[in-house]
Amino acid sequence: MKITFLGTSSGVPTRSRNVSSVALRLPQKAEVWLFDCGEGTQHQLLRSEIKSSQIRRIFITHMHGDHIFGLIGAIASSGLAGNAHKIDIYGPAGLSEYLQACAKYSYMNLGNRLKVHRVEPGLVYEEDNFAVHCQLLKHRVPAYGYSITEKDRPGKFDIEQAKALGIPPGPVYGKLKLGETITLEDGRQINGQKLCGEPEEGRKVAYCTDTVFCDAAIELAQDADVLIHEATFAHQDSEMAFERLHSTSTMAAQVALLAGVKQLIMTHFSPRYAPGNTLQLDDLKKEARSIFPNTKLAYDFFTYEVPRRR
Ligand SMILES: [Zn+2]
Ligand SMILES: [Zn+2]
Repeated sequence: MKITFLGTSSGVPTRSRNVSSVALRLPQKAEVWLFDCGEGTQHQLLRSEIKSSQIRRIFITHMHGDHIFGLIGAIASSGLAGNAHKIDIYGPAGLSEYLQACAKYSYMNLGNRLKVHRVEPGLVYEEDNFAVHCQLLKHRVPAYGYSITEKDRPGKFDIEQAKALGIPPGPVYGKLKLGETITLEDGRQINGQKLCGEPEEGRKVAYCTDTVFCDAAIELAQDADVLIHEATFAHQDSEMAFERLHSTSTMAAQVALLAGVKQLIMTHFSPRYAPGNTLQLDDLKKEARSIFPNTKLAYDFFTYEVPRRR
């Protein structure tokens, strides 16, 4: 699982930071999932290593422009590029109507490549390898945080040992790989678990933006390997954070601490902390690290490979 930040500024883009979007590359399949799609995300994709043709699912947190204004452009380009595969988009109420209106008034044919799913707190999407859940955060408009959980995988199958035991290759290998016990024609019973290494524990990533400190974020991020949490403001500006229902660096760190995550990556920074100003992003990092030392600051194109669990 590889996370790439495509935009890390809040509200408006700056020279060095675009507005919100995070790409998640999944190792089990050549698929990319996007989380939010602020204006200019397709340009950011062009500058990154990510192939936009691999985008299969897009999860939208909320309907503020800095999280959705890039959607229609990205969808239009992907259609013109001849990407035939379907894109599933998940998000709050109003997302489907918004996309339909954009398409209608710009004479764009969405065809049936697009399916919009309205999310509710709980399970959003599930497949063999992954499950995605969401929770309602605390923002000025309905905003959902997402968690992506990779399912545990059986350990590596020792094919040499299976051969040495004289097990004839065939469909039984598939069963043994899953840890099942099989009976051979000669009557021997073979326990697949003994031929497999240690099972690999699935990883978890949580994405919480935009929100002020809230319990839903802690619940969503519980025991995550990586928590991506917004930190629009410095601690000193917490009054503004409460007023606008955004987080400070210290709130993000508290969520990380209470949820027991391994790594916190903060994003969605207010442009007011630009270099040269009294308070800078380094200050936000220090504030967060005093509460949760394992904190990183995201920047555009920062890529983080989620380490395997042992
Ligand atoms: Zn925002
Ligand atoms: Zn917002």
